Amino acid sequence: MAALWRRRSRWWLELGLCRTGRALSSGESEYDLIVIGGGSGGLACAKEASQFGKKVAVLDYVEPSPKGTKWGLGGTCVNVGCIPKKLMHQAALLGSSLKDAQRYGWNISRPVHHDWSTMAKAIQNHVKSLNWGHRVQLQDKKVKYFNLKGSFLDENTIRGLAKGGKEILLRAKNVVLATGGRPKYPTNVAGAWEHGITSDDIFWLKKSPGKTLVVGASYVSLECAGFLTGLGLDTTVMMRSIPLRGFDQQMAILVTDYMENYGTRFLKKCSPMKVKKTDNGRLRVTWKYLDSGKEKSDEFDTVMWAVGRTPDTKPLNLDATGVKINAETGKIIVDAKEATLVPHIYAIGDITEGRPELTPTAIAAGKLLARRLFGQSEELMDYNSVPTTVFTPLEYGCVGLSEEEAVKRFGLDSIEVYHAFYKPLEFTVAERDATQCYMKMVCLRETEGRILGLHFLGPNAGEVIQGFALGIKCGATYSQMMKTIGIHPTCAEEVTKLHITKRSGLDPTVTGC
Ligand code: FAD
Ligand code: NDP
Repeated sequence: MAALWRRRSRWWLELGLCRTGRALSSGESEYDLIVIGGGSGGLACAKEASQFGKKVAVLDYVEPSPKGTKWGLGGTCVNVGCIPKKLMHQAALLGSSLKDAQRYGWNISRPVHHDWSTMAKAIQNHVKSLNWGHRVQLQDKKVKYFNLKGSFLDENTIRGLAKGGKEILLRAKNVVLATGGRPKYPTNVAGAWEHGITSDDIFWLKKSPGKTLVVGASYVSLECAGFLTGLGLDTTVMMRSIPLRGFDQQMAILVTDYMENYGTRFLKKCSPMKVKKTDNGRLRVTWKYLDSGKEKSDEFDTVMWAVGRTPDTKPLNLDATGVKINAETGKIIVDAKEATLVPHIYAIGDITEGRPELTPTAIAAGKLLARRLFGQSEELMDYNSVPTTVFTPLEYGCVGLSEEEAVKRFGLDSIEVYHAFYKPLEFTVAERDATQCYMKMVCLRETEGRILGLHFLGPNAGEVIQGFALGIKCGATYSQMMKTIGIHPTCAEEVTKLHITKRSGLDPTVTGC
């Protein structure tokens, strides 16, 4: 009887789905590792674990956005994050380059026109090729992929639910949770849900969003508003407080100043109240000025909420396990080993409390976890000095501490800030405004001057910061930076020449070549 049950269970599992009820995997079908969530962290962890000859499965399932947008394997970054965002940013930068090109002698017949649907189709095709690439990689590495929504039945049993409602049960010795997050909708704005879109939709629009209101003032908001403006769309950002909370505020203000000059409209200290569809199909948004309490309204074609993200932990049925979440943020509490309170259940990436919400950190955490689980490694993920870049029209890249944080940790008297306003050579002939091209290096004041943070606002900020991040990770000092020979003529070389301190009060504008 037991043998028959085992055979039937195996058959159900191999079939993938159970027709009449739940199929529990037999002992032989137990996985060494089941990863729930096939995004940046989950895929990296599963592929790494399979290198150790382990039996690994990944469950990935995309719940369509409230507007019905859906996508394939690969998670937020590939489908509705880094990749389509950077490509739309590139499309916008090309628009600026076209303007520059005329100063450099290119004869471009006017008017120059951008076609959203051509751009969107090309980007969406690229994303689809990445979806396919991820499936092939899983197959090559013998990781079993299930397009199922995973949740816990008990601490070792995962219930996988398919689109049509069919389900299977899988047994796992170890489980890694990597379900990421989804955009929030404001709860106190009438019509927000019915009429607004989020970053889950913007990259998959077939038609131009037209005149757009972007609500929020963080990464997602400013990056999306930046490329929409660059593509020639009438774009407004509504912010209730400060831009880029958590980042160096001097840099954040320069980012928004540049965007204002670039053409993005800002409604500052404002909060949305309601969104109503008008008879002509547009969206009338009413908002309140937080200082005066005055109300105002305007019509837009699209309203995009960029008011933060919610970790996708609820559908996991964590109550069936002892996994703890932070009740306020909904994020999973893990220790330095990415371990939850349940010994064989781990969590990585955006769903974990206190971690950066970035693709490279999710990937690195996933790989290191797999090596610790199956490869006898003890190496922990180091979340210090993680570099990042905000891909706004003038890019902002940074690594290490903000000036505010350095002052808080070490005291004003213990830090030295070297800074410079510089002009990228490429801006000169193009007659571009370089008012916000600025950089600063925050150092300890002791003899060698260990570098605590580097902040760069200018073209290709991500490319500039990436290399310096290595130096800072290795404990680079101000004096070592001054011995580093620059590459001429570049923007990055200005970092190696920083010599004006904020304390001196001298003019930090770079003059000469
Ligand atoms: P995700 O990549 O979100 O993957 C989670 C996966 O799990 C998803 O496929 C989800 O559908 C699936 N899932 C959820 N619940 C279940 C379930 N119950 N069962 C099965 N599957 C489930 N980071 C950068 O480093 N650089 C950038 O330029 C950048 N740009 C961004 C731009 C935008 C607009 C956004 C929103 C984010 C951006 N990020 C960027 C952040 C980056 O995308 C995330 O930090 C990263 O994707 C997190 O990876 P993850 O593995 O934690 O989760
Ligand atoms: P954040 O949580 O960082 O920011 C949310 C923004 O929305 C804040 O400006 C917040 O204002 C505002 N907000 C929140 N609620 C409301 C409301 N009801 N009405 C008006 N405004 C509101 O979220 P993001 O979605 O921008 O980013 C999430 C994460 O994704 C980031 O932390 C980042 O790690 C990652 N990411 C990385 C990128 C990159 O590497 N280039 C790009 C994009 C995202 P307030 O400050 O007042 O609370």
